[in-house]
Amino acid sequence: MILPEQYGSAGFRDIVLVSRTNGDDQGNQFTLINPNHASYLPLHYVLLFPYGEPGWHWGRTLDNREGGHQKKNLSQRTFYRFRLHPRLDEPSTIFQAQRLFQQFVVDAWAVCNQNKLAWIRSHQANIRSDLYHGLADVMESEDIDLTRTGKRVVLPSSYLGGDRFMQQLYQDSIAIVRHFGKPSLFITFTGNPKWVEIERELLPAQTAAERPDLVARVLNLKVRDLLDQIRYKEVFGPWLGWVWTIEYQKRGLPHLHLLVFLRTDHQFLTAGNIDSFISAELPPADDTINQELRGIIDTTMVHTHCIAQNGSALCMQGLDPFIVQTCRKGYPRSFQEETIINEDGYPTYRRRNMGQAYTMSIRRGGADVTALIDNRRVVPYSPYLSLRYRAHINVEVCGPVKAVKYIHKYIYKGRDRATVILESDQNEIKLYLHGRYIGPTEAVWRLFEYSTHGEEPPVMHLQLHLPDQQPIYFSENEDPVILRQRMDSSITTLLAYFKYNSENVDGRGYLYHEFPEHYVYVRKQGWKPRIQRKSIGRMY
Ligand SMILES: [Zn+2]
Repeated sequence: MILPEQYGSAGFRDIVLVSRTNGDDQGNQFTLINPNHASYLPLHYVLLFPYGEPGWHWGRTLDNREGGHQKKNLSQRTFYRFRLHPRLDEPSTIFQAQRLFQQFVVDAWAVCNQNKLAWIRSHQANIRSDLYHGLADVMESEDIDLTRTGKRVVLPSSYLGGDRFMQQLYQDSIAIVRHFGKPSLFITFTGNPKWVEIERELLPAQTAAERPDLVARVLNLKVRDLLDQIRYKEVFGPWLGWVWTIEYQKRGLPHLHLLVFLRTDHQFLTAGNIDSFISAELPPADDTINQELRGIIDTTMVHTHCIAQNGSALCMQGLDPFIVQTCRKGYPRSFQEETIINEDGYPTYRRRNMGQAYTMSIRRGGADVTALIDNRRVVPYSPYLSLRYRAHINVEVCGPVKAVKYIHKYIYKGRDRATVILESDQNEIKLYLHGRYIGPTEAVWRLFEYSTHGEEPPVMHLQLHLPDQQPIYFSENEDPVILRQRMDSSITTLLAYFKYNSENVDGRGYLYHEFPEHYVYVRKQGWKPRIQRKSIGRMY
């Protein structure tokens, strides 16, 4: 297998076969095989498909369960999803392959993704026409430099996970903040490889790292349950909206970053109210429920990375462990009798010095060190959520508005990059592929098409253009008569906004960006009064 760094154009992954039968003919010795070829899987993963079972190819179809004659094509992603479910009537070979299984899922996702990128590469003309009509995606000043039109390869914002996509999500979430004001809670939820739902399904002697399929499926279910708890069970109070993203890391499990908007009153930021749902103390092990909670907090919510002067911890980067008192995350904190809201808007949580402590033994520099853990090292948590999910769930009250922008930048910072290569040409697909890093859990997450982000209420992107400069889509060989009709009937959200207000009086009090809160845009019909579900407008 030849990777793009070694040979060929970026994004092209060649499998080269050497034929044994025509060894005499030197010229025809090598054959290239496309990853979409039916023999790609058994040739590349000889151990996983020992009988040469064919992989996905264009001709694969699904049974039509309704009994009709029409055949439905089997998509590549669906095929890999099918393979990623263990079955009782076939051996579980691929699930026992450990690291080879990890490589298999990453490769499967890369192959599916490749086809999408190939499509984007071959449709640059359409993508660029969006860009230069000022409609979409203006992210960099180079975007409007027309002299480079021919050379530039654009990865559009519709490509999930690309830089422009993350930029759009960031703008959407800022639009939600503009509408509601600052969010109430900031929650980070990390999967726990020791979850009983994962351990129960592991094959003998397996670890969770060897089964990214199980980890992704269980984490996805728990994330959805957590979102339901906040939205429908309203465990923190009346829910208004949220923005969330899933962040994958090179090592460790994916995180959920979640900003929750609640309908709060002046009572919300009082010490007593905060103490009722956030704690930064080790729970007293005085009854069975608290004993259980204590076990969870001890193992998931204590900041131990930098304990015993561990200079190599991430939170100690650039700090001298023998001089500084606290790490970059501020641990250990000081004891605190009562929760207070500081002048700068940040709360300081209650961390009483009441003898709740335990010692733990940590291996550092070849020796065992004993460290004392007390309330100063507890990461703020919600007792309810910690008991329910048995994982690292950091729940904090959002600080001042200026902190909100930082959190947004942090959660939309984009993916981990393996390497950054500076390129003189403007090929965003190449740049993306060079910097791309796919981990096994992310690969499974994307193959299963689990959500990677969410915004509520939805943000509608409103078009802006000068008179008679709205974009019109047509292909080069379009009939001029049809083109003329299309030009005459072309309508944008902006034109429809003027039209609605010239015909109706009820919407004239609203600005363009406020319109989606009260009206819904129906394609080809224009704006209609909104009956259900709220939306927020944002101009490009
Ligand atoms: Zn630390």
